[in-house]
Amino acid sequence: MSDDTPEPFTEQDYADRMARAAQDAAAAGLAGLLVAPGPDLVWLCGYRPTAITERLTLLVLTPSAEPRLLVPALELPDAQAAPGAGAVRMSDWRDGQDPYAAATGLMLPNGRYGVSDSTWALHLLGLQETLPLTTYRALTTALPMLRGVKDAHEVARLAAAGAAADRTYEEILSVPFTGRRETEVAADLARLLREHGHSQVDFTVVGSGPNGANPHHEAGERVIRPGDMVVLDFGGLKDGYGSDTTRTVHVGEPTEEERRVHGIVRAAQQAAFEAVAPGVPCQEIDRVARKVITDAGYGEYFIHRTGHGIGVTTHEPPYMVEGETQPLVPGMCFSIEPGIYLPGRFGVRIEDIVTCTETGGRRLNDTAHEMAVVE
Ligand code: ZN
Ligand code: ZN
Ligand code: ZN
Repeated sequence: MSDDTPEPFTEQDYADRMARAAQDAAAAGLAGLLVAPGPDLVWLCGYRPTAITERLTLLVLTPSAEPRLLVPALELPDAQAAPGAGAVRMSDWRDGQDPYAAATGLMLPNGRYGVSDSTWALHLLGLQETLPLTTYRALTTALPMLRGVKDAHEVARLAAAGAAADRTYEEILSVPFTGRRETEVAADLARLLREHGHSQVDFTVVGSGPNGANPHHEAGERVIRPGDMVVLDFGGLKDGYGSDTTRTVHVGEPTEEERRVHGIVRAAQQAAFEAVAPGVPCQEIDRVARKVITDAGYGEYFIHRTGHGIGVTTHEPPYMVEGETQPLVPGMCFSIEPGIYLPGRFGVRIEDIVTCTETGGRRLNDTAHEMAVVE
């Protein structure tokens, strides 16, 4: 088990996040933010209800008032135990009462609000029906970078999650591949992530042979054979922050073509990493990786964006994709994961989490990029 428990976030950390979110909302022309259970609520006030149900829980942030958290009365003790509880004023509603009447009492009757992506449609429609003149924007559309720049404590947690994923990769190399189903190797990955301190496993991709050509293949019943390329892409949450890494291994000796394709992906990943610097637009990271793969003749087989942000979730803004002009800022953390996907044959992907620093990129995954040969 992991014994590197990080320093907890303080009530002041949460108060600062909520104050900044309210200011950012005002700057974006919003009356405030409405945040239901999900990653934004965890990040803003540290509260994660035991179960997310049809009973309304809503954090209301406005620039002119203190943060308000409305919770079902029977969940009030749980909410009061959250690490950021002291930074919000709580109120509750009881079964039989109208939660939307309670929530809209905290809102302007004609306000425009940012609403967290994970808010159920049921709740948004309930608010709209009660206050028909209110309008809404998705939080990620209105404030895509709200959680995008991580502070030093957050980067430390992401680094620890990355290190745990790296140990998982090193240990998976010695399990048997030949003759086992993808799902069995995937179960080994999940077990190892948990042994190295992950509380949640989000994905364990084992894409063997032709399955590796589908970037979103998870793991299936295919039995792994000698001569297979195998894409291993896995991650989850450790102490509330995400890991996500990919290495592509080979069962037995690879062919000359397999080595060449792997080498191109490796060169693309390295070039994109070296392009990381403050002020560089996100799309430039994608362009740099894409140029290496296109120049080598495989451009049409790089069918996936180059990367995504990571934080309290494993996939979030900013995205390293054509059209994303957001400049990199020190503290941003994101994946660089170019790949070549040859339909019906095999795929190769290499992925590290990288953080932008004042002087360039810093990898949060450090395992070897060479194609490992497994048995
Ligand atoms: Zn994807
Ligand atoms: Zn991944
Ligand atoms: Zn990824």
